[in-house]
Amino acid sequence: MDEKPWTGGCACGAVRYALLSAPFDAGWCHCRTCQLNSGAPAMVFASVAASKLVWTKGEDRLKRFQSSSFGHRVFCGDCGTPFLMEVDHQPETVDFSVATLDEPERAPPGFHIFWGSRIGWFEPKDALPRHERFRPDTRGLEGTEPPT
Ligand SMILES: [Zn+2]
Ligand SMILES: [Zn+2]
Repeated sequence: MDEKPWTGGCACGAVRYALLSAPFDAGWCHCRTCQLNSGAPAMVFASVAASKLVWTKGEDRLKRFQSSSFGHRVFCGDCGTPFLMEVDHQPETVDFSVATLDEPERAPPGFHIFWGSRIGWFEPKDALPRHERFRPDTRGLEGTEPPT
């Protein structure tokens, strides 16, 4: 068990959070929504039980929008930093953007998803598994995939 606290926040400092347990399943996502949500070619998300992510400052600054037929995104309403992805097929967990951690080095990504919508000039040199869309063992999907 990692005893060091997991904390993070947004660019303007209005919103801060803490994780009460270590995150898992960190990975790159190259889907179009992540590209638009971040303004970058891809995002790195990791999962944590929904009850284990607590807002320690500025929860009232958060904004939420429906980003797909099965998901929502949560971001700082003051500066726009993207925090969370919530998907209907995994109600017990939230996926948070790893780059918002104070020490993002602690949650290195282990795979790529939605490689099929990767921007061609973005060529990661790692040897991580690359999945065209979701990982085949995605929790909550069991062989079916929600529409994009
Ligand atoms: Zn902010
Ligand atoms: Zn994505």
